[in-house]
Amino acid sequence: MKLEEDVQLAKLTTIGTGGPARAFARPSSLAELEWTLAWAAERGLSVATVGLGSNLLAADDGVDALVLKLAGALASVRVEGETLAAGGGATNAVCLHQARAAGLGGFEFACAIPGTAGGGVRMNAGAYGSDWSQILIRARVLSSEGDVWMTPGDLGLSYRHSALGPGFVVAEVEYRLTPRPVDEIKATVAELITQRKATQPTNKRTFGSVFKNPEHELGAGRMLEACGLKGHASGGAIISPRHANFIENAGGATTADALALMAEARRRAREQFGVALEHEVQLLGPIELPD
Ligand SMILES: Cc1cc2nc3c(=O)[nH]c(=O)nc-3n(C[C@H](O)[C@H](O)[C@H](O)COP(=O)(O)OP(=O)(O)OC[C@H]3O[C@@H](n4cnc5c(N)ncnc54)[C@H](O)[C@@H]3O)c2cc1C
Repeated sequence: MKLEEDVQLAKLTTIGTGGPARAFARPSSLAELEWTLAWAAERGLSVATVGLGSNLLAADDGVDALVLKLAGALASVRVEGETLAAGGGATNAVCLHQARAAGLGGFEFACAIPGTAGGGVRMNAGAYGSDWSQILIRARVLSSEGDVWMTPGDLGLSYRHSALGPGFVVAEVEYRLTPRPVDEIKATVAELITQRKATQPTNKRTFGSVFKNPEHELGAGRMLEACGLKGHASGGAIISPRHANFIENAGGATTADALALMAEARRRAREQFGVALEHEVQLLGPIELPD
C-alpha cells in the first residue's frame, strides 16, 4: 500500500482549491483500508475520506491528516437481483449506468449529483424529492474502532446530514432498486438533466450547494439572490450569476476567497432575513467560518 506525501487537495476537489494532505492513500481493498486506518491510529493521525470532492472545501494551508480516496474493489459496482452493491468510492455516474443496464430504477434522482456512494451516504445527498435514505439498505463502515454494517436509521440520515464523524469510512453500500423499463429510466434522466441545466451552473467549477435550505419560505439561493449577491466576487471566487447558492472558481480561486463569500452571504442573510444559514459544504482542515 503506497502512501504519498504533499498531494494537493486542489486536485481532489471539484472547486479546485486546497493545500497538501500530510499523507494520502488510495486503498483498493478492505484489507488495504484496514491497514491504512491502523497506520494512522498508530501515529495518532486523523483520517479524512474524499470521494469526488464535490461538496468539499479544503484548507489552503493543507490538512494534517491521512486523506483516503477509495479505489479498485472499493470503487466497483455489481448488481445482485434488485440490489446494487457498490464500493464507497464508486461514482454515482457508474452506479446509475449499471442500474440502467440492469433495468433497475430508483437511482435516477442522483443523475446530476457528481459524487460517490460514500459521499452520498455521508451527506444523505438528494434531489428532486429523493435522497440516499430512501434507497440505502445498509452501508459498511470501517474505522479504527472496527467494521460494522449500518442501516439508514443507524446512520442518522436526515436532510443533508448523517451522524458519521471523521475517521468513519463508508467502504461498501447496498441500494434497493426496483425494475423499470430502460427507456423510462433514460427519459427521466434526460428530463432531470434538462431541468438542472436550466437553473444551475453545470459547466463551472463549484462544490454544489453552499448552504442548506433554511426553514423559510425562500430557499438559500433565492434568499441570497434577494440580498443582491449574484455575481459578487472575492479574489478568484464568484457567487454564481445563475444560482446564488453556488460559488464558482472563476480562475485562481482559493479556499479563503470562497470562505470570504460565505461569510458575506451569512452576514447579509442574517441582516436582511434574520436567518442563520448553515453550510452544506464540508470543511476539511483548519477552517473557521466567521459568524
Ligand atoms: C455541480 C454540482 C451539483 C450538485 N448537486 C447536488 C444535489 O443535487 N444534491 C446533493 O445532495 N448534492 C449535490 N452536490 C454536492 C455533492 O455532489 C454531494 O454532496 C455528493 O454526495 C458528495 O459526494 P462526494 O463523493 O463528492 O463527497 P466529497 O465531496 O468528497 O465529501 C463530502 C463529505 O463526505 C465525506 N466522504 C466522502 N466519501 C466518504 C466515504 N467513502 N466514507 C465516509 N465519508 C466520506 C467527506 O469526508 C466529506 O465530509 C452537487 C455538487 C456539484 C459540484
